[in-house]
Amino acid sequence: MTSAGIGQARSLVQGAQRIAVLTGAGISTDSGIPDFRGPKGLWTRDPDAEKYSSIDFYLSDPELRVRAWQFRLSNPVLVAQPNAGHRALVALEHSGKLQRLVTQNIDGLHLAAGTSPELLTEAHGNTREAVCTACTWRGPMSETLDRVRAGEADPACSECSGILKSATVFFGQSLDPACVQEAFDAAATCDLLVCLGSTLAVYPVAEMVPIALRRGTPVLIVNAERTEFDESALVLRGSLSELLPEIFSGLSES
Ligand code: NAD
Ligand code: ZN
Repeated sequence: MTSAGIGQARSLVQGAQRIAVLTGAGISTDSGIPDFRGPKGLWTRDPDAEKYSSIDFYLSDPELRVRAWQFRLSNPVLVAQPNAGHRALVALEHSGKLQRLVTQNIDGLHLAAGTSPELLTEAHGNTREAVCTACTWRGPMSETLDRVRAGEADPACSECSGILKSATVFFGQSLDPACVQEAFDAAATCDLLVCLGSTLAVYPVAEMVPIALRRGTPVLIVNAERTEFDESALVLRGSLSELLPEIFSGLSES
């Protein structure tokens, strides 16, 4: 591992023309959305929460689905706002250097901050929509949550009566192959890969790092704790909402 100072990280960004960025749960903790595995993580505080996003448990246990819908009603994602870290990535886009932003997050905060949809890959889906597990129906999550508020504890699909869920990739489900391709293409063609707020332990998205490294592309990691790839990257430790504005703001266009 090489420990980078802010100046070093900034000159790496300044010298690059095509930057691919990968973000994980850590970029949204300062917006009030807990990560999964940290001390205040969701799974640490509510062991059942992991099952809410496991497809086998979800499909086979109606009681679990009732709790999952109640959890969705109180999900901090519903009221969260983008923070300075999300906004710094919009500044990076405005500099013309952002090739693609791949996120493992499902909170929609990159879009809310102003990242262009055509540059964003939400590899694990999003919570803005609900989908049917039996047919192709999909609709705004807000409308399905209204049904829950109105008394439907486990609302069924209006087309086929199938089981509804959020439009996120559950454990036991495959990622959209088009999203995986976008992520891998970005890693293979960027001239700098920046990884933010991820343990880099969740595949296939984490595969972006070895793809970039095999091509000799530099990797910059900014994270509060160690990651799986610290030994091969330039690493900056600390808070993303504090560090990213310093790294990405005021970049000149290349
Ligand atoms: P993770 O929880 O495994 O790791 C998050 C990392 O971010 C940790 O290493 C932590 O130290 C670091 N971190 C937390 N807050 C930080 C901050 N303010 N500044 C700097 N670093 C910070 O998350 P992951 O590796 O991204 O993956 C877990 C999975 O959980 C992903 O698949 C993701 O889809 C999902 N998830 C998403 C959200 C969300 O959408 N906001 C929230 C929780 C989990
Ligand atoms: Zn259906």
